[in-house]
Amino acid sequence: MNIDGTTRTIGLIGNPVEHTLSPLIHNGISEKMKQASVYLPFRVEEEGLGRAVQGAYELGILGLNVTVPHKNGVMAYLTELDEAAARIGAVNTLVRTGQGYKGYNTDWLGLRRQIHEDGVSLRDQTVVVFGAGGAAKAVVYLCLSEGAHKIYVLNRTRARAEQLAESMKAVCCYTEKGAADNGQTGADKGQRVIPMALADYGQITEQELIVFQATSIGLAPNVNEVVLEDAAFYSRVRTGIDLIYNPACTRFMQMVSEYGGKAYNARKMLLYQGVIAYELWHSVKVPQDVIDDIDTQLKRKLYPKDNIVLIGFMGSGKTTVGKLLAEILGRDFLDTDACIEQMANKTISAIFAEEGEEAFRRLETCVLEKLQDTVSGTILATGGGMPIRRENARLLREIGTVYYLKAANQVIYDRIKENTDRPLLQDVDPYGKICELMRQREPLYDAAADKNIDTNSNDLSDVVNQILQLEGKGKSSNRILEV
Ligand code: NAP
Repeated sequence: MNIDGTTRTIGLIGNPVEHTLSPLIHNGISEKMKQASVYLPFRVEEEGLGRAVQGAYELGILGLNVTVPHKNGVMAYLTELDEAAARIGAVNTLVRTGQGYKGYNTDWLGLRRQIHEDGVSLRDQTVVVFGAGGAAKAVVYLCLSEGAHKIYVLNRTRARAEQLAESMKAVCCYTEKGAADNGQTGADKGQRVIPMALADYGQITEQELIVFQATSIGLAPNVNEVVLEDAAFYSRVRTGIDLIYNPACTRFMQMVSEYGGKAYNARKMLLYQGVIAYELWHSVKVPQDVIDDIDTQLKRKLYPKDNIVLIGFMGSGKTTVGKLLAEILGRDFLDTDACIEQMANKTISAIFAEEGEEAFRRLETCVLEKLQDTVSGTILATGGGMPIRRENARLLREIGTVYYLKAANQVIYDRIKENTDRPLLQDVDPYGKICELMRQREPLYDAAADKNIDTNSNDLSDVVNQILQLEGKGKSSNRILEV
């Protein structure tokens, strides 16, 4: 980064600030958009907050993010306050004006952008919010502004849920024209937000729920904790959004997926709250390709080795198991053969026929090199010969945890004997060919794998459960696996 006399400073005030991911987001965007600005974290004690804000203004700082514990306290030192931030009672972004800083809350805007992108509509829905802290307030404000029908706020400390409901009473409700009052009385508005003690969740009778998890339960390293563990409740959850993004798949998300709902973490909320702040400071629109790039970096930083790689002979169940794992864990699924076909713009059979096996193996290496730099939180199914190249075995292990799906020759033969699109098996004696290839490949699979999984049984749900347990994600119910 080239810093000179025109470089503007942006930053973060909070305490602590050592683990923040915001410099990665903001310096990353500046670099990609060639903006002359640099983002720095500043640790600020509570008693020095006012002086810090005034000093930042005097130093010409363009804008600041604000994090725990100053999101509320900072409001006393601002010259202007955005309406949503005032309602939520929390400011996470200061934007420089002619007189001082104006405070915004981009957390709720970031979450709004995430749910729109994920296709989650809150309009006329019954929403349950776990938690009543700062994040829950932003969630409830979002639900009101998006026209949710009813919002249950469930908190360990009921009094805090009641305070939250009270503070949201005057929030305008959605209309077709936008977030304006729809003519309801104050009392009607208040009734949309129903405070409850967490323990009273059984009183919720609606059958279709959207749930936001906005407590700190389940945050790494306490990844096995969940705020509620009742199957009857989760079977009514259509969509579950956990505001925690580390780990990528929380216990709450696993419960939602296991009982048939769609589950999301809120990494994109974090990303978009940053993007929106950046746009406010620099009066620019950050292009989607820049955002996607930053997201990849964010994922790599947050989940350094969070991919699951499946290797094994053709017919060992890699694709089926991979897709099921992706569905249960709410992750992306990728098949390296499909990536190769896309890259070469030809089918695998055509690559073998026209260029030979060696050319195909080279393409496999190219694809792995590319995936190594781009994928995160992904389930990867690989071609049967992938670990033949020593280089590929190394790349696979760098990409993620490698599981070898192992099956006997006869089982493999029975599974794929009718298949005509496997170039290596177009042989007069396909069973003999399988035995010959397995003799060569078995030691390579063993060497490349972190863990071996027996897939001789045709019950692939058992294979999925074995992997989930090894990943520390618990056992999945059979409901979702009987497909
Ligand atoms: P906060 O103000 O401290 O609130 C914490 C909430 O968790 C409260 O409702 C608290 O209940 C509840 N809680 C804590 N320990 C509990 C326990 N053992 N059992 C039951 N409930 C418990 O924190 P916050 O700022 O709202 O943040 C909440 C979560 O959202 C954090 O994990 C944070 O990382 C995440 N977050 C994510 C983003 C994002 O960009 N994705 C943005 C903001 C926050 P009580 O009131 O009873 O104490």
